[in-house]
Amino acid sequence: MNRSDAAAAIKSAALRIGFDAVGIAEALPLVDPINRYKEWLGNGFHGMMSYLERNNEARADVGKLLEGARSVVVVAKNYYTPYHHEKQNVGKISRYAWGDDYHTVMNALLDTLGSELISVVPGSAIRRYTDTGAIMEKEWAVRSGIAWQGKHSNVLRRDIGSWFFLGVLITTADLEADSPMDDYCGTCTACIDACPTSAITQPMVVDATKCLSYWTIEVKPEHNIPDDISKSMDGWLFGCDVCQDVCPWNRFQTSCNDSHFMPRNNVIALSPEAVVNLQPSEFILHFRNSPLKRPKLEGLKRNARALLATVGWKK
Ligand code: SF4
Ligand code: SF4
Repeated sequence: MNRSDAAAAIKSAALRIGFDAVGIAEALPLVDPINRYKEWLGNGFHGMMSYLERNNEARADVGKLLEGARSVVVVAKNYYTPYHHEKQNVGKISRYAWGDDYHTVMNALLDTLGSELISVVPGSAIRRYTDTGAIMEKEWAVRSGIAWQGKHSNVLRRDIGSWFFLGVLITTADLEADSPMDDYCGTCTACIDACPTSAITQPMVVDATKCLSYWTIEVKPEHNIPDDISKSMDGWLFGCDVCQDVCPWNRFQTSCNDSHFMPRNNVIALSPEAVVNLQPSEFILHFRNSPLKRPKLEGLKRNARALLATVGWKK
């Protein structure tokens, strides 16, 4: 099979398996993106996420992650469900975390796609990634033509907005590559204007040390959320979706109809008062296979205490 037919067969398999978009990029070194990334690190915008300073050689060249890499297959999976935070006294949770842990779901689907790829191009080697490891997923999404990078730095599409997970297969298979997608942000600056902490310092650059998602998910529980950040929490208990909620491309999103991503009642109805009183055994029981486990119970309690201390959070 030639590289064009092989690419078409793999894309068709990806859509059949349940992904919403798929594209392919040539596995070339990332020169400009890694320079921009190093500048971001140099500005200290990664805060306490020191693991992001490591493995930059691999980040710049997927050939360091898989010897002989020729192609990068990138897939997107819509996780939008038509629910909105409206209840009183409930802490807001970032939309991606309402259902099951996406790593489990995406990895299973990527494994199936990997098997399909091997049947199309026998003997291919593969490495898969879902938001793990030293790989610039958003850059690959752009290069493979499945999305553009918005000014809020997330990637987005005209048909499913930005509410999707990314998955990547690096492979030694030589597949015909796609062209990057045009940027449809235009003159819009809604995300930059709406960010409650002014964390988007310029288009596509987020200072994580100001971002609510960083403070409520990534920062270890022993660190309290600074007052100048917590005063802008506006009800967010875990993560923050403000810059995506205001994006015009997310206005007409359609539901994913994937049971894994349907909002769990105990997640969308979580009050900060309940979190503060949560016992470890209850946390393990209620949040099994949920993204809410990432900051651990103590991190979630830290967020809840910060939220309760803010004036008028009950919105
Ligand atoms: S997630 Fe929230 S705090 Fe972070 S950049 Fe977006 S709007 Fe700003
Ligand atoms: S809100 Fe506007 S500027 Fe920001 S990502 Fe969406 S379209 Fe682009």
